[in-house]
Amino acid sequence: MASPEKPSGQASPKPVAQVRYELLTLGDELLLGLTANSHLTFIGAELGRRGAMLQRNVTITDEAEAIAAQFRESWARSDVVITSGGLGPTCDDRTREAIAAELGMKLVFDTSIEKAINDRFVLFGRKPTANNLKQAYRFEHGEVIANANGTAPGLWVERDGKVLCMLPGPPNELQPMFVDQVLPRLARLGLLLDREAYVQIRTAGVGESSLETKLQPIFDAQGEALSVAYCAHAGHVDCRISSPSGALAMPQLESIAAECARLLGEDFVCFGSDSLAKVCADALRAAERTLAVAETATGGLLTNAFADICGAAKFFAGGCVCTTYDAKMQLVDVPESILQQHGAASAEGAVAMATGAAEKLSADYALAVTGFSGPCAGPNENPIGTIFIALHSPHGVWSKKLSYPGPRATVRRRVVNAALDWLRRELVRERSGATATDQCQSVMQ
Ligand code: ATP
Ligand code: MG
Repeated sequence: MASPEKPSGQASPKPVAQVRYELLTLGDELLLGLTANSHLTFIGAELGRRGAMLQRNVTITDEAEAIAAQFRESWARSDVVITSGGLGPTCDDRTREAIAAELGMKLVFDTSIEKAINDRFVLFGRKPTANNLKQAYRFEHGEVIANANGTAPGLWVERDGKVLCMLPGPPNELQPMFVDQVLPRLARLGLLLDREAYVQIRTAGVGESSLETKLQPIFDAQGEALSVAYCAHAGHVDCRISSPSGALAMPQLESIAAECARLLGEDFVCFGSDSLAKVCADALRAAERTLAVAETATGGLLTNAFADICGAAKFFAGGCVCTTYDAKMQLVDVPESILQQHGAASAEGAVAMATGAAEKLSADYALAVTGFSGPCAGPNENPIGTIFIALHSPHGVWSKKLSYPGPRATVRRRVVNAALDWLRRELVRERSGATATDQCQSVMQ
């Protein structure tokens, strides 16, 4: 059996898990807290999926001396140094020059980069300015990583058995370059696995500790061969299984994961990292069903979870944020009598919103959310964090009363996840042919 630590045709003498990766994220805006460092989470996760571990991430300012000093230190102790940012055309983009000086390597003008920059400007009907040509330089003994979404190409240098990979700052440029070009290059050099290193089991509705208690008997049977890690997120918990020693091949890991999924039943969401909304979307598409949303307390977040998915029009009829009584009556036909008798933030209000949204938008399913997400208090019987959600399906309509005290943003996020998970479970049941659905209930969770 091939060891998962070594990809085929590898050049690196080290097992992948021991390759030292370091990420230098450059930019004053990161240190000022104006931009969240998404390159750490993105690159860390992509390397981890291929069996490599980012050893360190250092965030530094745009100053040339700071870049040079940090690069010197990182280069000395690492096998692979990845930098992000500072490759642009302006005076604060100094990474290329600072690192070239440190490596003692010349920068040379590359006419193919110049052409790519000019072509991109033509595409947008603009003319490049002189400083744009600063981006047309690459290392004398280096290569170019093409950038399909911007003018700054990435730069690649291999020296003394080490790799330097420099990428532009914007995430929409860096991410496809990393996945499509950097990962395959690293895998070819044996610095990464050429396939996934672990199987991730995504779950919902079960806490981290109960998940471990449930799954442990399956894992115990594998002994030392299996490595297990848990990670709790808002709305779901992931369990990753791998075999760092290579004793278990991928098909064996997949079969262990399948056993876990069977045991978890409806609490199993998917293998991998699809969002709850994506899992619902796939199930709706497969069943050729559609969904509508009506929401108040979540202010469009639930709608956005579906609108974010490519091809949403195939399964998502639409969503509306109907905050006032008038909006509820006009947009989703909530009867005035329900609002007068029960108030909008009520089980009856939520059910009327879901039914109205499904009818108005001719959808098979509808989710509705209404309630008090704070910080203003609701009436005594409905304190902050009291939310009613409703699910309309071809088989009936139900409501749930949720109690999620906490800051407004937390309440809203938890409510969105609860609604998504409820729909997901309903769709799983429908797919499995189960007819019994949650009966009309009010549950405190
Ligand atoms: P540009 O040509 O856009 O100037 P660049 O390579 O010079 O690209 P920067 O100027 O450092 O990159 O950053 C460009 C954009 O990318 C900025 O909006 C910045 O906030 C964003 N960015 C840079 N680094 C990160 C990071 N680590 N995480 C998220 N966004 C980042
Ligand atoms: Mg810049």
